Amino acid sequence: MPPRHTIAKAVTVTGTALHAGVSVTMILAPAASGSGIVFRRADLGADIPALYLHVGETRLGTVLEQGGVKVGVVEHLMAAAAGLEIDDLLVTLDGPEPPILDGDALSYLTLLESAGMADQDRARTAIRVLKPVTVESGDAKASLLTAERLSYAYDLSFPVIGEQYYEFAFTRAGFKAQIAPARTFGFLSELEALNRMNLAKGASLANTLALDATGVVNSETQRFADEFVRHKILDAIGDMALAGAPLIARFEGRKSGHATNNALLRALFADPGNYQRVEL
Ligand SMILES: [Zn+2]
Repeated sequence: MPPRHTIAKAVTVTGTALHAGVSVTMILAPAASGSGIVFRRADLGADIPALYLHVGETRLGTVLEQGGVKVGVVEHLMAAAAGLEIDDLLVTLDGPEPPILDGDALSYLTLLESAGMADQDRARTAIRVLKPVTVESGDAKASLLTAERLSYAYDLSFPVIGEQYYEFAFTRAGFKAQIAPARTFGFLSELEALNRMNLAKGASLANTLALDATGVVNSETQRFADEFVRHKILDAIGDMALAGAPLIARFEGRKSGHATNNALLRALFADPGNYQRVEL
């Protein structure tokens, strides 16, 4: 039976928060076996467990919220932790979001790998999906289906980008090579309006694939032709990590985002007949 994993030592990084635009220092540190992933706002003296029940806003990133304290844009870091099969981790921030770094999960994954992995004294547990669960909102749809192995499929459709489809059967090596490098993207036409709402203030051509009416503005930084759909899978992996344990299921998404992903986990856990906790 594989043990739970944490990291071997603390590592620190400083960078810009995607929405708040401020500089944030983040410390990733080992955590006690069974503690799960916890975000700590050192500036506010508050902890928030990285669990779907604490998800508040989902409009432009997944925001954890408890007792009026928030941590925004947790999904890329959560994806990196899931990609490395890290179960227990303390994430200490002195601001409102993890720094966005390159807008991918690879920046976090590289940092976590530099800390080294450490085995815990308990066995890993997973959540096996026993019945198909689907949520729909408008033309967005997300499902968790029964499967022997964890996999993701996503169907994207956006103006300018067009249609992209990607399938990913989860492995650690596959996550690092195929999914983690895919960067976040946004439309320049929306940027001014977002900035007026104090959102995307830290977005830049260095951390976001920017689109205008003709295509990708900073295409020289693009890593895959289908980087957009790969990033949607990255987001889904990060959002599903808020189940608090790895899933044994197939995720299928079509035009879905953080709101649908969170609704999907809430629907899964609403009925104890939908799932079973198992030792790996
Ligand atoms: Zn994202």
